[in-house]
Amino acid sequence: MKEKLQSRGRFVRKLDQVGQLTEAEKKSLAPVGQRFVFRATPYYLGLIDWEDPGDPLRRIVIPTGAEIDETEDVLDASDEASNTKVRGLQHKYPQTALLLVTEVCASYCRFCFRKRLFMDDVHETSMDISEGLEYIRRHPEINNVLLTGGDSLMLSTRRLGEIFRQLREIEHVRIIRLGTKVPAFEPSRITGDAELLRTIAKYSEPRRRIYVMAHFNHPRELTDLSREALRLLLEHGAIVVNQTPLLGGVNDDPDTIAELFNELSYMGVPPYYLFQCRPTEGNDTFKVTLGTGLRIFEKAREKMSGLAKRARFCMSHASGKVEILAISNGQIILKYHQAKNLLDRDRLMVLPLKPDDCWLDDLYRRAAASPGREAAALPY
Ligand code: SF4
Repeated sequence: MKEKLQSRGRFVRKLDQVGQLTEAEKKSLAPVGQRFVFRATPYYLGLIDWEDPGDPLRRIVIPTGAEIDETEDVLDASDEASNTKVRGLQHKYPQTALLLVTEVCASYCRFCFRKRLFMDDVHETSMDISEGLEYIRRHPEINNVLLTGGDSLMLSTRRLGEIFRQLREIEHVRIIRLGTKVPAFEPSRITGDAELLRTIAKYSEPRRRIYVMAHFNHPRELTDLSREALRLLLEHGAIVVNQTPLLGGVNDDPDTIAELFNELSYMGVPPYYLFQCRPTEGNDTFKVTLGTGLRIFEKAREKMSGLAKRARFCMSHASGKVEILAISNGQIILKYHQAKNLLDRDRLMVLPLKPDDCWLDDLYRRAAASPGREAAALPY
């Protein structure tokens, strides 16, 4: 049964306003709300099965008490701050620059690895991108720029058009990417804004495309309205791909991943990455071990067409994007797909794996402690 939301306006900004939560739940979640921001769209709250406390869509946007966890996990698990060259611009891999253009999302994912940006005392985003643009102009090796934050489609259409125009004046920037979960959280932002679609059509040129990096985590997010938003983006010249973390209690089973990736591929939205969930503070209940994650991914791939199984299973580690390739005889085989340090480029690593290992640092710590060939695989 869907209860009426006590929300005025486009967003539900306080847990107190979620009419489906009991008074006891609201009270017990109050400390989480003080540590991490909450926001959700009425549309997305309406997709949740409130009869099921473990509903995957509920887990995506409604906090649990476990977010205040006792682990030593940090807020910036991939050390993104070290890639910040000027305010609002990150440059980690030679060809790619990130412009963090907003700290707002349509809803806030409980597992977000950038939750630090939504805190009052963190200033890594910038509305004024002039310094970032200047940096990009001075770096001809940058051929693609990701507009992110926050969610790039939370910018007004006019602001987005202005950023597109300025980026298109830089010859060497061939691809503009939009990082967004709006097609899942608020698809009417796309279906209801003809000007946005015209703007995308104008700046997604045949030789310099706009890529939409969509973020669907679960097949139930692919509603008719979401599908229509994706169809319109494609029809207006954007290339759309999808990336999702592997999330405990959300999509950590082969059938769910296979259905999500297959459905996306049917619509012409290739699955791009399956990410290992970063060990960010508050994310403990979403973690899936590396061994389990690879088994899920491999089982899911058995149910996919070749077009759906193009995604890579990767960790976005501080040292680079590390692909998880195989496990054999208690060893995990990894390869740098992108590396921050050029010496790590394409580097293959074979490291001992324990059942509870979740992140590259878990493997490094053990390898560093044992002399011999494992230590030789360390990138530091
Ligand atoms: S939409 Fe993206 S940036 Fe925003 S909270 Fe979710 S994962 Fe984080």
